[in-house]
Amino acid sequence: LPAAAVEALQQADVATLLPVPEGADHKYTRGVVGVRAGSATYPGAARLCVAGAASGLVGMVRFRAVDGDEDTARRVVAARPEVVTNAGRVQAWVVGSGGGDRAADALAEAVGDGVPVVVDADALAAVDGPLAVPAVLTPHAGELAQLLGMERAEVEADQLSAVRRAADRFGAVVLLKGRRTLVAEPAGRVRVNTTGTPWLATAGAGDVLAGLIGSLLAAGLDPFDAASVGCWLHGAAATAASAGGPLTASAVADALSAAVRRVLPTP
Ligand code: AMP
Ligand code: MG
Repeated sequence: LPAAAVEALQQADVATLLPVPEGADHKYTRGVVGVRAGSATYPGAARLCVAGAASGLVGMVRFRAVDGDEDTARRVVAARPEVVTNAGRVQAWVVGSGGGDRAADALAEAVGDGVPVVVDADALAAVDGPLAVPAVLTPHAGELAQLLGMERAEVEADQLSAVRRAADRFGAVVLLKGRRTLVAEPAGRVRVNTTGTPWLATAGAGDVLAGLIGSLLAAGLDPFDAASVGCWLHGAAATAASAGGPLTASAVADALSAAVRRVLPTP
């Protein structure tokens, strides 16, 4: 791989890239995102991933548990009445955490739909080569090490090389989460995220991020922009919600709409 210049998105870039509805829009033109997350064993992951997807940047969120569990779907709808649980077209899928080995089937089904997909958590274990659709992979260092057949310490010692190697090998955008989140695309461009707080190191934060990136993909952003705008907003929401103190993943999700509002031009 040739040497890469690492870019950083600024707030003004995020404002330009954000999907903003126009007068003629309706919910289907704004995009529909499908979430496959959670299962009977891990219903909470479903709620958090959906909360990330349902921040208002997309026209509709559809949901199905990774294992198809109906009780998980009922709990998601109880928490988020706007979520739709019947089958139907989506413009992007998020296949995420809380599904164990059933995530491989969910990923295959999502890829079969022919739309872009965010691959997070348990679904990453099912990735063994380039996917047939545009994809954003969202590993933390341990998951990236598994994807590349490396040791976690090797990834942590040279995160830039590792994330670029993965983008090249899987022909996908790869977002390496952590203290300094990096986003690489197969052609060699890399962005470093500048928002966020160490208080984000908390269970479920990654599920919220995956859902948010999926909504941006469904709204029509390309995978590189969806991933980089997603981690920028997620970090900005986290910093605001934390205000220098403790944070939960639910609080990050609740702060997303306000983070979006702060970036938009004042009406
Ligand atoms: P996950 O590992 O899937 O739970 O995702 C964790 C989320 O928290 C990602 O968005 C990370 O970038 C973020 N995160 C984890 N540790 C830190 C840290 N030390 N500083 C800033 N962000 C972090
Ligand atoms: Mg995770």
